[in-house]
Amino acid sequence: LVVLSGVNKHFGALHVLQDIDLSITAGEVVVVIGPSGSGKSTLCRTINRLETIDSGTITIDGRPLPAEGRELARLRAEVGMVFQSFNLFAHRTVLENVVLAQVKVRKVPRAEAERTARDLLEQVGVGAQADKFPAQLSGGQQQRVAIARALAMKPKVMLFDEPTSALDPEMVNEVLEVMRRLAADGMTMVVVTHEMGFARSAANRVLFMADGRIVEENTPDAFFTSPRSDRAKDFLSKIL
Ligand code: ATP
Ligand code: MG
Repeated sequence: LVVLSGVNKHFGALHVLQDIDLSITAGEVVVVIGPSGSGKSTLCRTINRLETIDSGTITIDGRPLPAEGRELARLRAEVGMVFQSFNLFAHRTVLENVVLAQVKVRKVPRAEAERTARDLLEQVGVGAQADKFPAQLSGGQQQRVAIARALAMKPKVMLFDEPTSALDPEMVNEVLEVMRRLAADGMTMVVVTHEMGFARSAANRVLFMADGRIVEENTPDAFFTSPRSDRAKDFLSKIL
């Protein structure tokens, strides 16, 4: 579904993605871990073209990423992204946050968009908050709204970049639970996270990145019990 082939990206002199080859099949859940600065966020951002690449190709469903315009807006809809900071529109209600892009980008009639939004908010457990503003919600609730907003675009793949890192510990699980359910429902997902419990229970594959490269990839079981590279062993010894 998502194929990266020979992808390279520089920030000035920094070679932040080095010869990345990655193929993600439909329904697969890929967890990306690695030290700070290894390129995990940049990798996610290239997949929905928040970042351009210097060489290589990225295709989604067999189509190359569009460079600009309407096609790019459609791509962004097909590739949902959830960030550490929830990025909700502060001056819009929760419901509006989930309605807006449906109406603007997907041209869904307003009544239908509202129905979809209420359904999704219900599914992620914040149905009762629909008419509030984001600031009136807890961090965990806001992040679940952000997930509902991305899902409203009917994405083919969802990218999560440390979705629980900014949350108080007691709210982490309610967000992970929504993500687990999405995974179980067959959503294709790329998840950058330090939540190793989630990686073990929900991932089909773990990618370990260091210095802009995918150093190791394996099933979660194999990766956590017998990492092959010294970099991965060293990283795991610090976080587990
Ligand atoms: P973290 O775990 O801290 O989130 P990461 O693995 O997500 O790290 P990236 O955010 O992808 O790492 O950054 C990779 C490298 O690229 C870092 O050295 C970072 O400083 C650099 N970088 C990221 N974005 C930019 C940018 N817009 N301009 C210049 N350098 C950047
Ligand atoms: Mg990051």
